[in-house]
Amino acid sequence: MISLVIPVYNEEELIEKLFERTIRAMTSFTDDFEIICVDDGSTDHSLQKLIACHQIDKRFKILILSRNFGHQAAYTAGLSHARGEYVAMMDGDLQDPPELLREMHQKLRDREFDVVYGKRTGRKESFLKRQLIKSFHYVFKRLSRIDQADNVGNFSMMNRQALQALLAMGEKNRYLPGIRFFIGFRQGFVEYNRDDRDSGTAKMNFKKLLALAFDAIFSFSNLPIKVCLYTGLAGIVVFFLAGVYVIIDKLTGHALYGWSSTVLSIYFLGSVQLVFMGILGEYVFRIYRETQNRPVFIVRDFLD
Ligand code: UDP
Ligand code: MG
Repeated sequence: MISLVIPVYNEEELIEKLFERTIRAMTSFTDDFEIICVDDGSTDHSLQKLIACHQIDKRFKILILSRNFGHQAAYTAGLSHARGEYVAMMDGDLQDPPELLREMHQKLRDREFDVVYGKRTGRKESFLKRQLIKSFHYVFKRLSRIDQADNVGNFSMMNRQALQALLAMGEKNRYLPGIRFFIGFRQGFVEYNRDDRDSGTAKMNFKKLLALAFDAIFSFSNLPIKVCLYTGLAGIVVFFLAGVYVIIDKLTGHALYGWSSTVLSIYFLGSVQLVFMGILGEYVFRIYRETQNRPVFIVRDFLD
C-alpha cells in the first residue's frame, strides 16, 4: 500500500480539485493506496469539503487535529497515522504535482533508493519570496552541512524503514526536510518545476516561514552560539593588543589619569564575559541535543 499525506489549512477553494487530481494521479499507478488529509484546524469550510470527498471515496481519509498546530506538525501527525509500505508527503495547495508520485514510487520500488525527494528546478512564486527562500537555503546548507538541502522541500516519498527512522526523531521543533536528510539511507531525487499555488493565499505567512527557518537553523547547527565564543576569543586578542597600547601610553605619560585602568577593565571584562557565555552556550546546546532525543544511529541492514 502507498500512503499520501497532505496537510490542509483553510484551503476550501481547492479541495475538490485536490481530491480529483490526487485520486487520478494515484490510480494511474496503483490500486492500493490511502490519502491522508490532515485538517490542521481549518476555520473555513475545508473540513466539510474534505468530509464530502471522504464520503465519495473512502480511500481519501481525514485526520482532524484539535486546532492549528502548523504545517510541520500536521505532516508529522499524518505520517504517524500512515499505514503504507511507501509513504509520501505533499503540500495541499497543488504546488507539488501529484503526477510526480508515480516516478518517485518507481524509484523506490526498483529498490534503488529508500527516500526520493522532489528537487525544484524553478519556482513560480513572487520575486521577493523566491529570494528569501533562496537565502534561507543558502544559510541552512552552509550551517547544517547538508549538501543536498538546496531547493528541496517536503515533497517526497520514502519506504517504511526510512519513515520509522524519521518518526523516531524526538525533537518538538521539527524541520522535516532537514530531519529527512539526517536519517540517511539511500536518497534520490526527481526534478520538477514548482507551480504557484492553485488558488487561495499562502497559509505559511512570513512570520510562520521565519519561525520555520529558525527551527531549521537552531536544530541543525550550533553556529549561532559559537559566534559568542568566537567573538569572545577574538575580543581577548584585541584586548591584549589594546592593553599593550594602553600600558605604553601610560608609561610614556600620555594617558590621562584613570583612563588606563577604566579602559583595561572594560576590555578585559567584556571579552571574558563573551567567552564564558559561549562556554555556557555550548552546555545549553548539548542539553538541547540531548532533549532532541534523536537516535544515536540508524541501521539500514544487518547481514547476519
Ligand atoms: N498548512 C497547514 N498548517 C499551517 C499552514 C499551512 O497545514 O499552519 C498547509 C497548507 O494548507 C498547505 C501546506 O501546508 O497545504 C503548505 O502551506 P503554504 O502553501 O502556505 O506554504 P508555502 O507553499 O508558502 O511554503
Ligand atoms: Mg504553498
